[in-house]
Amino acid sequence: MNEDRYIIDWCKYCNQGWVEILKTTKNEFIIMCDEDYLAFASPYNYFHDINGFRYFDGSSEIMKNEIPAGWSKYILSEDEIKNASPIEREERRKQLAERNS
Ligand SMILES: [Zn+2]
Repeated sequence: MNEDRYIIDWCKYCNQGWVEILKTTKNEFIIMCDEDYLAFASPYNYFHDINGFRYFDGSSEIMKNEIPAGWSKYILSEDEIKNASPIEREERRKQLAERNS
């Protein structure tokens, strides 16, 4: 897992990618799915299905201390990420099966 990604959910819309905090090229913070580019103005909007839009314009690196106030509580821990993703779950199941065979 890349250290500088701030993931808040496994995408509830496409079920294919991670939803993470993104800094746009205009230095605005948004939430975006890394698979289908569905974006929201805030974590609150994502979780409440408010005003989704597509964002294709690239991103800038985020320093942890510049994450907007109130957004940090949404960021998943590594364990939560493993539990959140069906793909990760499948991978872990395969690894366990191989180890035990
Ligand atoms: Zn998605």
